[in-house]
Amino acid sequence: MRATARGCHTGPMNSVPEIYDFTVIGAGPAGLFAAFYAGLREMKTKVIDALPEPGGQLAVLYPEKYIYDVPGHPKILAKDLVRLLVEQASMFAPTFVYGQRIETLTRATVGDEEVWRLGTVTETHYSRTVLIATGVGAFVPNKLDRPGMAEFEGNGVYYFVKDKNVLRKKRLLIIGGGDTAVDWCLNLRDWASEITLIHRREGFRAHEASLAALRLTGIPILVPWELKRVHGEDGRVTGATIFNNRTGEERDLEVDAILVNIGFKAALGPVLSWGLSMADSRHIRVDGFMETNLPGVYAAGDVAAVEGSEPLNLIVTGFAQAAIAANAARARLQPGARLFPGHSSELKLPA
Ligand code: FAD
Repeated sequence: MRATARGCHTGPMNSVPEIYDFTVIGAGPAGLFAAFYAGLREMKTKVIDALPEPGGQLAVLYPEKYIYDVPGHPKILAKDLVRLLVEQASMFAPTFVYGQRIETLTRATVGDEEVWRLGTVTETHYSRTVLIATGVGAFVPNKLDRPGMAEFEGNGVYYFVKDKNVLRKKRLLIIGGGDTAVDWCLNLRDWASEITLIHRREGFRAHEASLAALRLTGIPILVPWELKRVHGEDGRVTGATIFNNRTGEERDLEVDAILVNIGFKAALGPVLSWGLSMADSRHIRVDGFMETNLPGVYAAGDVAAVEGSEPLNLIVTGFAQAAIAANAARARLQPGARLFPGHSSELKLPA
């Protein structure tokens, strides 16, 4: 593989596809930190995630929870850690691509170069090296199949909160019994004009402290209640019919928006068909440089299992693995380049 330096890339000008030095699949903490290190090592870097936002498990499963074991942060909210990781990676202006799941990873010839081709259903990306930081897999929200749900999805019916502004001063129905539903009730209580929470079971899976805080807010909590149908007019949600699944009692609520937080499915899915040597069904086998059996393809974070060790699925482990993978990719791209990046404190970095 030939050595590259930033700025000397085959670009779209001559209609040859743009080739990146280092492409990260997955914008969880491991992928984001790898993007920072790849930038530090002057690699042209792209980060691709199936989700519409960065953060992986931190953004999807526990944005409002404190994390206590990130070095240098006695405690930090998961969503704040994501914001800081994006800020840190952005120092070197990588390309971020959201909402695309990588389906295929194959070899391709571009010009006179052999590179990796990453295929999604809409686009193809090319890269000299690849980091798989797919964690527990691409997240897909569990959906509720009720009359009106599909019709108003994205326009009054939401499975993610991408932009809190769409819920500003809205009468909101939140559905779910886990941390995400409860955390959104707490987060949006002064933002929405009114919130009702329904959950189909008596018991909640959410953290006890969050539930205690929720009970203090006075937000109506209805259990065991479920959504029956969504009502709308002129393309907007106007109400919802809910029912008690024990007694059959029904109620009509006047609401402007419905937020469904009934969990996510995560599956490695396509990753399993890329010809990788797996340690088990959820972990890719890597060597001490975080390289897989495919040359120039690395893995880090929850998805990686280092030969002779056991996966320790923690953010801090993923950070270290990400740094090793990015530096190893640099050394591979430019034979003679050192694995050791130098001390960042001694480098001249962008302000
Ligand atoms: P992930 O965070 O899983 O991110 C992977 C990303 O890859 C996702 O965004 C996904 O959409 C994307 N992706 C997957 N497949 C594809 C594909 N084919 N194409 C495109 N994108 C794809 N750890 C700690 O250290 N401390 C804690 O306090 C802590 N608390 C936790 C609390 C909870 C409730 C949970 C569930 C986990 C907690 N963890 C904690 C674990 C920690 O969140 C994980 O170790 C960490 O998120 C792993 O990071 P990652 O970057 O490897 O993967």
